[in-house]
Amino acid sequence: MKKEGICRICGNYGKLTFERVPPQSAFNSNPVFFQKSIHLHDKKSYLYGKKIRSNQGAGGYYLCEPCNNLTGSYYGDSYKKFAYMGMMALTNRIWASKTINFEYAIQPLNILKQILAMFMAIDTSDQLLNLKGLSDYILDKDSKAFPESLRVFVYHTVTKQVRNGWGMARTKKGYHTLGEITFPPYGVVYALDSEPTRNDFYEVTDFKNFNFNQTVQARLSIPFLTPKTYIPGLYL
Ligand SMILES: [Zn+2]
Repeated sequence: MKKEGICRICGNYGKLTFERVPPQSAFNSNPVFFQKSIHLHDKKSYLYGKKIRSNQGAGGYYLCEPCNNLTGSYYGDSYKKFAYMGMMALTNRIWASKTINFEYAIQPLNILKQILAMFMAIDTSDQLLNLKGLSDYILDKDSKAFPESLRVFVYHTVTKQVRNGWGMARTKKGYHTLGEITFPPYGVVYALDSEPTRNDFYEVTDFKNFNFNQTVQARLSIPFLTPKTYIPGLYL
């Protein structure tokens, strides 16, 4: 396992530390099997179509220690609480309903920045590292300079398959540049310079309008979806 490289958030070369995506506290502490983009996109690679087993939970050597520690200490706890509330919403849901309504007490900006940090961590395409201002937006907890070309969405899922990737997709709406991380209770999605693949995702882009550590009480209506394959963008 490569332990030195380019940190996917700050872009500096150096020693990398193991980063769990999602955070260990958000139900990510057991061994998992997952696929990375190389297992999906690169047909020449011997890894194509294979899976990785990670005993440390889903994650990898993505970030330098300062970025790993900083994002964890700023946003990790808020995301953990969001994940616990989401698990409660899932547990208490009415099984037939496609949308789960639940009362949340959340720190919206912290959650948005944690989600963005996770997307940057798994982004082997560098499209997020090259997105002007995104690193600074994450590393400065008080920054309000959210990159306008980006939109972020959430859905509920119980699918154990881990979808950790980015890519392009084409639907009736046109071409999409997207990334997606699925890990119960949530799937999180971004759309870059394009529409999302679905209209019923719960959009959290507006979480950018809150302040760091600001807590709000809100009733969220989040759709329940089942990812179809490891490839981002497809659902049952
Ligand atoms: Zn870094």
